Amino acid sequence: MKYVLVVGAGLGGATAARILAEANYRVFIVEKLGYVGGHSHDEVNEDGILVHTYGPHIFHTKSKDLFDFLSRFTQWHYYQHRVLSYVDGMYVPFPINRDTIAQIFGIELESEMVEGFLKKEVANSTFSNPPLNFEDAVVSQIGRRLYEKFYMNYTRKQWNMEPSKLSAEVAKRIPVRFNRDGRYFSDQYQGLPLYGYTKMIERMLDHPKISVITNCDYFELRSELKPVSTFYTGRLDDFFDRMYGELEYRSLRLEFKTYQKEFFQSAGVINYPNDYDWTRITEFKYMTGQRSDLTTVCYEYPLDKGEPYYIVMDEKNMQRRALYVNEAEKLENTGEFLFIGRLAEYRYYNMDEVVGRAIEKTEEWLRRHL
Ligand code: FAD
Ligand code: UDP
Repeated sequence: MKYVLVVGAGLGGATAARILAEANYRVFIVEKLGYVGGHSHDEVNEDGILVHTYGPHIFHTKSKDLFDFLSRFTQWHYYQHRVLSYVDGMYVPFPINRDTIAQIFGIELESEMVEGFLKKEVANSTFSNPPLNFEDAVVSQIGRRLYEKFYMNYTRKQWNMEPSKLSAEVAKRIPVRFNRDGRYFSDQYQGLPLYGYTKMIERMLDHPKISVITNCDYFELRSELKPVSTFYTGRLDDFFDRMYGELEYRSLRLEFKTYQKEFFQSAGVINYPNDYDWTRITEFKYMTGQRSDLTTVCYEYPLDKGEPYYIVMDEKNMQRRALYVNEAEKLENTGEFLFIGRLAEYRYYNMDEVVGRAIEKTEEWLRRHL
């Protein structure tokens, strides 16, 4: 039988599988865990609250096409994510905006004056221009005072490295706003699948040409399989038996706690840059819109080792990545393998970027093979 093998039933694998099946390919997905969804997996906990197994997940994209594609498999709970940061004993809006500055410095500025205010903060700071690293990138936007309050210690805690060793790329994830827009993301399409990510992904995989085999590790059977092609979404270094050494990840210990009250905190996520050992606390009911007399929250404690949550964007790992990507591209050129997603491309992708990559790479493969 001719079939395509997809390794991993996260968003990347599910997207690729669906597109292949709709192009009339027989698809087998092997997933080493006992469930589908990968890092966007969610489930109802024993207290009846829908929680995200691997930490808070909010879907956001600028692309209508991508949103329309996923909307075939789910309705949405429309939600605009808001984050507060606990700084100087106050809960203030983050990313930094006009209201943050008002609360931190006790000055009321019109929106038109905020840019000038930040320019002065920057002018009073030293940094490399153009920015060479995360610290420079942030200080060049908001100055050192705000950097030290909001970014410096959070970044040390999260990455266990000096912000001057982290790539400037990471800073691009967080905007700075001159107005009063208190949302975390500015994308036009934002929300959560109404019945959860797992349900959405199960529907993506619900197709007569797709078979999902859970609890099945690709590496235990790869020599026995003869697919026309393998679409791989697991770790890039694992695929090549770590021939160039390990691509490192930061991990998290997630502590879930249920409280006998309707709400625990005043926003979906509260960041703690300077206090406590956790980086942030998530309260899922804000995001999912679920109603209950109980509430579940999740504390995130950064870890050096464990489940691969975050790629490490420092020089050593980026150089090593380039070696692996070179090997992966050689295989991709044969058409017998594709590497898709956050783990397989070793990129700090959001969910929409993973879906986008899966669509792009699978459609390109189909153009070559139909
Ligand atoms: P994964 O979801 O990791 O799927 C890969 C799958 O492959 C896994 O199921 C794995 O078990 C399986 N696999 C691996 N190796 C093998 C093997 N050998 N055999 C069989 N199966 C294998 N994105 C957003 O857009 N918004 C957010 O708010 C957001 N929050 C996040 C918060 C945290 C704490 C983290 C860690 C990530 C967050 N993300 C967020 C990113 C999001 O989780 C990822 O972009 C997305 O889930 C990656 O999908 P993927 O399919 O590439 O990989
Ligand atoms: N960051 C920070 N302070 C914050 C939030 C984020 O310094 O209050 C930095 C930190 O280095 C973090 C990065 O910005 O790792 C990206 O933040 P984001 O919220 O996008 O992280 P994720 O949701 O992927 O964990």
